[in-house]
Amino acid sequence: MIPYGRQTITQADIDAVLGVLQSDFLTQGPRVPAFEAALCEHTSALYATAVNSATSALHIACLALGLKPGGLLWTVPNSFVASANCGLYCGAKIDFVDIDPQTYNLSVEALSEKLARTKAAGDQLPDILVPVHFAGRPCDMPAIAALAAEYGFKVLEDASHAVGASLGGHRVGACAHSDIAVFSFHPVKIVTTGEGGAALTRCPALDERLKQLRTHGISRKPEHLGSDHTDPWLFGQVDLGFNYRMTDLAAALGRSQLEALPLMHQRRLEIVERYAEALADLSLQRPLLDDQRFASAWHLYVIHLGTEERRRAVFHGLRDEGIGSQVHYIPIHTHPFFRALGFGWGDFPVSEAYYRGALSLPLYPGLAAEQQAKVIDCLTRLLAP
Ligand SMILES: *Cc1c(COP(=O)(O)O)cnc(C)c1O
Repeated sequence: MIPYGRQTITQADIDAVLGVLQSDFLTQGPRVPAFEAALCEHTSALYATAVNSATSALHIACLALGLKPGGLLWTVPNSFVASANCGLYCGAKIDFVDIDPQTYNLSVEALSEKLARTKAAGDQLPDILVPVHFAGRPCDMPAIAALAAEYGFKVLEDASHAVGASLGGHRVGACAHSDIAVFSFHPVKIVTTGEGGAALTRCPALDERLKQLRTHGISRKPEHLGSDHTDPWLFGQVDLGFNYRMTDLAAALGRSQLEALPLMHQRRLEIVERYAEALADLSLQRPLLDDQRFASAWHLYVIHLGTEERRRAVFHGLRDEGIGSQVHYIPIHTHPFFRALGFGWGDFPVSEAYYRGALSLPLYPGLAAEQQAKVIDCLTRLLAP
């Protein structure tokens, strides 16, 4: 079976992990700070906090940004559920902003309208907005930052798909137009640590909060120790945090993976260009390609087949030939849990229409030319008039 996505593990990755197994530390050793430094170097963020998943990173990012019970988080329906759950973990309420029908990212127009409407009605404005760089394509961050300044909300980028992407000369993760950006290192994403994630920021106070919340809310700062002594065993729990730490095994893998990122990104681009060319004459909507304003990380290659019936037929047709594809995403607000919160089909029509026809084709650095040719061949036959 050709999967829609999978990790690429090199001998260097294996050696890096074996090195940790033979070292003094499996966790809380030197590899996590080294990986964090590598993430900062890659993105130009000033600080990075590596944790055990992007979900954990989103959770502590919301807390660090001050999200409270009764607060409000907005995100998009076209994402993985974690983009919304992070608000609910904090006891906040959530709502959604519909997507743009071309980019499949948050629609700045819809955001601007919803903010104006909410303010005019005297209703609660969001405390945090979570834009998602869908498929690795950066959202329009300068426009989002302008609205954040006007309406006074924080911006938390869910950059789970976007390691290696850039916008306007800034790497995604640099937080040029946001407070915090979160990466995922799940194996289907761009760079993997097995399970893992990170929260990046330019703000030292946010970084301190993130690192405290990752380790039980513990501080070793003298003013937090509750004592005039500074004995080595002293620490103070100053907040209710979690054990969201990344292991040194995972961090060593992540650092090694990050070194291969330019090569892996190049492979993804080659595959994308091949699809763009080979699918040009088929009756489907191809994803927009990069232009001079931005570079996508190309986590996903999503085609749109117009209708649910066609999408279903193509999904099964590919599967019958041993080709995996996937649907990203079932709109968050239509999951049973979110319907129980009062959301429902019809609430965000662009995300719903997108969902009905969307299909992610195989895209990962290890996808061989013959395998991609098979995908193209099969798709061409399935869509023959
Ligand atoms: C994968 C993903 C997450 C969650 O990542 P984990 O590391 O598995 O917790 C969150 N948001 C988006 C958009 C994702 O794709």
